[in-house]
Amino acid sequence: MRNQTATQLLFEMSKAGRGTIVFPKSDVPAVTSIPGIDNVHLATEPLPLPEIAEPDVVRHFVNLSTLNMSVDSHFYPLGSCTMKYNPKRHERLARLPQAATSHPYQPEDQIQGLLSILFEMQGMLAEISGLPGISLHPAAGAQGEFTALLTAAAYFKDRSEKRTRVLFPTSAHGTNPASAALAGFECVQLAGGRNGFVDLDELKTQLDDRTAVFMVTNPNTLGLFERDIAKVAEMLHGVGGLVYIDGANMNAILGKTRPGDFGGDMMHYNVHKTFTGPHGAGGPGAGPIAVRDFLAPFLPAPVVTYDAAKNEYSLSTPAKSIGQVRTFFGNVGILLRGYFYIRTLGGKGLREASENAVLNANYLLSQVKDFLEVPHGDRCMHEFVASARKIKEQSGVTTMDIAKRLLDYGFHAPTVYFPLVVEEAMMIEPTETESLQTLDAFATALRTICSEPADLVKGAPHSTAICRPDEVNAARKPVLCWSAPEC
Ligand SMILES: *Cc1c(COP(=O)(O)O)cnc(C)c1O
Repeated sequence: MRNQTATQLLFEMSKAGRGTIVFPKSDVPAVTSIPGIDNVHLATEPLPLPEIAEPDVVRHFVNLSTLNMSVDSHFYPLGSCTMKYNPKRHERLARLPQAATSHPYQPEDQIQGLLSILFEMQGMLAEISGLPGISLHPAAGAQGEFTALLTAAAYFKDRSEKRTRVLFPTSAHGTNPASAALAGFECVQLAGGRNGFVDLDELKTQLDDRTAVFMVTNPNTLGLFERDIAKVAEMLHGVGGLVYIDGANMNAILGKTRPGDFGGDMMHYNVHKTFTGPHGAGGPGAGPIAVRDFLAPFLPAPVVTYDAAKNEYSLSTPAKSIGQVRTFFGNVGILLRGYFYIRTLGGKGLREASENAVLNANYLLSQVKDFLEVPHGDRCMHEFVASARKIKEQSGVTTMDIAKRLLDYGFHAPTVYFPLVVEEAMMIEPTETESLQTLDAFATALRTICSEPADLVKGAPHSTAICRPDEVNAARKPVLCWSAPEC
C-alpha cells in the first residue's frame, strides 16, 4: 500500500495552523519600518510555507527515501558503473570534523593534515596506474577525460605540433567523444573491430601526423581485456600520438596490471566507482587523472607538493599548467572515501577485490548464458554484455521490458542498450561485494522473467510507485517547481 506521506508534496499536506513549533506570543511591538532606511520592504505577512506536524514531515521523507533503489537497499548490477557497496566506516571517517569542517579558503598551515592525505592519495594513484603525474582536481570521470585532453593539447602546442584528431573504437563510452569535442578535437570513430576488440588494421589506416590521442577503455565496455593494447600503444607512439586509458573499468585490474605498464600515457580514475565513493543520481564524484612525467608540467592547478626540508605540504601550480577546470582542489569528500578504502584494503586487498569482481562476473555469466545470448564469449573480466535479441524475436519482449520487470523482483536493472555494438544489450556488473546467494537469486529472477508471459513482462514494473515514466518528456520538459493549483 502506498503511503500518502510519500506521494503527496509537503505543500499538499499542509493544514493551516498545524505547525510543529508554537512560539510564545510576542511581547515586543511589531516593526513595519526601519528608521533611517528607506525603501525597505519588510515581509509582514506569513510566508506561504507548508504547515505540517513533525511526525508527518519525518514520515514524508523516510517514505520518499524508500521509493528509489540504492546499493544500500538492493543489488545494483549496473554495468560500467561499478556500483559497489560503500563501506560505512569510510563514510564515518570522511565526516570527521577535521575533514568535513575544513574550508578551501583556510590558510595552508591550518590544513596540513588534509593536504598530507591528499598528497599520499596522489602517490597511491600514481602507484596503481604506473603513471607518475597526478591531478586530483577533476570532479568526475568525464571531466577527467576533458582535463587530460586539454593537458595533451597544451603538450602538443608546447611542441608546436598541430594535432587535431582524437580516435576511439565503437565500444567507447559516450563521454569519450563528448570530451574530445569539448576540448576542441575532431572525433574519429573506428569501424567495429572483430570479436569486440580494437581492429589494428583499421586503426593503422587512421593514424597519421594529425593524430593526437587514441581513447580506449581497458578492459573494454564488453568486459574484455584488449590483449593487443601494448601493440596499439606502440602504433600510436610511432606516429607521435598519445594513448588515453578510460579507467572506469579499473575494478577489473587493480594490482594485476597498470595502464602505465601497458602503454597508456594518460588515464582517469572514477573514485566513485572503483574506490567506493557513493554515486548515482549525478554525483558528487571524483575523477583524478594520471599522466606520464612529460605531461605532468601541464596538469591543472593546484597539485599538492611536499617540502621535506620544511616538512610542509602546499598547493602548487605546475610549471606549464592549463589552469583550473573547476573550483579549489577537487571533491575532497569523495577523495577521502577513496583514500580510506585504499588504505583499508592495501595492495593485496585491492588485488583480491579485482579477483573477486572478475570471479563474480564470470559466475553470473555461467548462470545466465543458457537462456540469454552472450555474444562476446564465455569468459569476461568484471562485467559482461548479454543480449535479449533472440527473446525479442520470439516473443517481442525487449531488454527494456526485462530491465523493468527486474524491479518487481527487487533488483536494480543492469545497464541497457550500451555498448551500442550489441543488439538489445544488457551490461551486467555484479562487483566483488555481492554474495553467492545474491548472484544466484538474480540469475533465478532473470531466468524466471525470460519464461514469463510476454504481457506480464511488457507491463512491468507492477510493484513500484510509478510504472514507466515518460523519460523523453521528463528530460525535455522537467517540472522542477511546485506551484499552487489555481483555485
Ligand atoms: C562512468 C564512465 C565514464 C564517465 O565517468 P563519470 O564519472 O560518470 O563522469 C566514462 N567511461 C566509462 C567507460 C564509464 O563507465
